[in-house]
Amino acid sequence: MEETIAIGLDVGGTTIKAGLVRRDGTLIRHAAFDTRAAQGPDAVIERIAEAIRSLLDGGEPVASIGLGVPGVVNNRGEISYPPNFPGWGVVNVAERLRPHLPAQLPIVVENDANVAAYAEARAGTGSSDQDFLFITLGTGVGGCIISGGNIWRGATGGAGEVGHVSIDINGPLCNCGARGCIEAYIGHRYMATEAARRLERDPDSLLHAMIAAGKELDPKLVDEAAVAGDMFAREFLAEMGTLLGAALASMVNMTDMHLVIVGGGLSHAEKYLLGPARRSLQLRAIKSISLDVELRVARFSNDAGMIGAGLLSLVLTGTV
Ligand SMILES: [Zn+2]
Repeated sequence: MEETIAIGLDVGGTTIKAGLVRRDGTLIRHAAFDTRAAQGPDAVIERIAEAIRSLLDGGEPVASIGLGVPGVVNNRGEISYPPNFPGWGVVNVAERLRPHLPAQLPIVVENDANVAAYAEARAGTGSSDQDFLFITLGTGVGGCIISGGNIWRGATGGAGEVGHVSIDINGPLCNCGARGCIEAYIGHRYMATEAARRLERDPDSLLHAMIAAGKELDPKLVDEAAVAGDMFAREFLAEMGTLLGAALASMVNMTDMHLVIVGGGLSHAEKYLLGPARRSLQLRAIKSISLDVELRVARFSNDAGMIGAGLLSLVLTGTV
């Protein structure tokens, strides 16, 4: 039997990642393209089409195309005012792509965090679990609820916004306009700003030397310092992890999920961020959940969006 292949794309504000995805979640090949978001929606749609055509040129039997895009994808397949995409209002990406691509190829569009979660559900850390909560730690904090092996979209496609679970109504102001959202603590930008503020009071931290050597103060650098033994960094990450665990506890209590999978750029910060997050989650979850609730690191990192989008398109179009 001929192998079933999809094209999966992860459309980001600066880069479009595109790959040929096998049904087991492995990539045959992939490439990255500049999004050129500043040039507006028509230019971005043309770039996406170029990326797809470059993969079709290899002649592999592609059955479907899946795209992970920023922002909520509503039930009509439209995205509204995606962040970091100037000039975009309400856009139906699949409809706009259609004239640029071979007519017979089905196109599926879904939120980027949702497709990353789907990659874990079909071929990753959650492939033997039907129900879990997914959270992705990056500039923003995204999330998804996987229920019965599928993305739980809610009424209009916006479910799973873990990043905007508030842990303090008087807390720091979040990008969304509310206060105390977990994103306003552990989103990369917020975390870097807070670390910089506190570092001023801690002249002994190793981070000062790392920054003086030209490194940028971001959460990954804080984790590097923690691994190297820096107490400031360890305590800072432990505090952030504890807050993350509190937000996750609210989410698992609400949804009766017994598994949380963490993806994104910080998911490698296993010991000093996720360890405290795990303990905090176990401490705060209600008894029936805390006895066996697990927090695991995602299998896929940078490739998650491509792989999940490709797999989702194969499933939704009935190819697998
Ligand atoms: Zn928020």
